[in-house]
Amino acid sequence: MTSSANSSTAFDHRDPGTSEALWAADGRIAAANVLAVPGNGRRMVVVAAHPDDETLGAGGLIAMAARNGARIDVIVATDGEASHPASPTHNPAQLAARRRAEVVAAISSLDFAAGVIQLYLPDGLLDRNQEPLEQAIDLALAPGSLLVTPWHGDRHPDHEACARAAETVLASRPDVEHWQYPIWAWHWADPDGAPWSWESVGRIDLDAGANSAKQTAIGFHVSQSEALSDLGGDEAILSESFLAHFRRPYEIFLLESSPIKRAIATDRAGGGLA
Ligand SMILES: [Zn+2]
Repeated sequence: MTSSANSSTAFDHRDPGTSEALWAADGRIAAANVLAVPGNGRRMVVVAAHPDDETLGAGGLIAMAARNGARIDVIVATDGEASHPASPTHNPAQLAARRRAEVVAAISSLDFAAGVIQLYLPDGLLDRNQEPLEQAIDLALAPGSLLVTPWHGDRHPDHEACARAAETVLASRPDVEHWQYPIWAWHWADPDGAPWSWESVGRIDLDAGANSAKQTAIGFHVSQSEALSDLGGDEAILSESFLAHFRRPYEIFLLESSPIKRAIATDRAGGGLA
């Protein structure tokens, strides 16, 4: 993950950020609609801007959908080679090589049958490389697929570019559902100032096996969760306080451009959200 952002939306991944305890205490997450995990041969395409987005945002969903019999492809847009720009031990090519291998191991641990499509697009410049991303997304989809991407309001240009590419492709594929996962918003936003409509929020409750698989997959992204060395510039990108957002027993998806009622697992009184 790379935490650069443009000046109008800048945040710093080294800031303490919003604590997970604050999110966990908010009743609106507990009250969110529970989404149906895909299965039975349905295609699910997960898009990551950088190696580790797929695991942090949707690792539990991938594990549960795989067990349900969904057919899963993961598109990894960049190698995340810009994660440590001041590293004295790793140049971008060395980081790319490590992160390519880490993401394959992480995805395989979540679903050994998943397809991994690595696009090798430049980290930090996805907004200038939307076309190959759109082509890859379009090629991977089938009628009735579920498309899962970073959230378009995450304040990371690469994350937002993935969501935009998805929205462009889906303009001509109205039968495809689109779920979006926040990553950095858990850090820079807080429940009372949540930058989304709570009516668009859906939740997947992870069982113990899925959450354990997700934590194992997080562990494969060593170049991000551990320091590359003891030297300045090699610090870990994913702090424990940030990772706490991804140790939850659930995952949150925003269904802003998909009819949420289609995706709800349990039909509550009135059939979901008004
Ligand atoms: Zn990322």
